Amino acid sequence: MPSRPGQLVVLSGPSGAGKSTVLDALLANYPRHLRLAVSATTRPPRPGEVDGKDYYFLSPEEFQRRRQRGDFLECCEVFGRGHWYGTLHSEVGPSLAEGISVILEIDVDGARQVLRHYPDAMTIFLRPSTPAELERRLRSRGTETEEAIQRRLQVAKRELEYATTYRWQIINDHVDEAVEQINIIFNAQGIPS
Ligand code: 5GP
Repeated sequence: MPSRPGQLVVLSGPSGAGKSTVLDALLANYPRHLRLAVSATTRPPRPGEVDGKDYYFLSPEEFQRRRQRGDFLECCEVFGRGHWYGTLHSEVGPSLAEGISVILEIDVDGARQVLRHYPDAMTIFLRPSTPAELERRLRSRGTETEEAIQRRLQVAKRELEYATTYRWQIINDHVDEAVEQINIIFNAQGIPS
């Protein structure tokens, strides 16, 4: 048994906050002591997404069967998405027991559920400095209709209302600075690099 169990880290933030970029940097910085929990979802895979790596892609029936069986640490129909997403206990418990910290990239409703099981979870909310910057980033993708952008902005607004319930809020205007701040938090909380 390891001398110390791993820590559970929850990373949330609105679409456009840069969660994936920050997450990739953190996983690279903590190659041995941090792993990402692969979520399950009922949404169909996007081109290039791999089952078991990006998500476990489940049918709605399989998802609900597993939900009823109690397989999920948290799960919900993610606001504004129309699909179910969830974290399986099997993605979290075994790693923590091995002394490896686990990071979840989940929405604000999922984060609330996680805190019921793991009240000491390290909750981190990532956001750009202003709502205008968030809107600029969502628009700069250039691939979405005005209607889709408005929907994302609505969802983002709701997510931002929960920001203060997280232990740490990190402004991500510059990725390197955001990652450095999280490194400092991880070091202070005893996650070895
Ligand atoms: P996407 O479909 O773009 O990959 O993810 C959409 C949203 O679902 C993101 O905001 C992400 O945080 C959230 N999400 C992804 N996995 C999970 C999960 O396991 N649980 C919850 N509650 N939300 C998730």
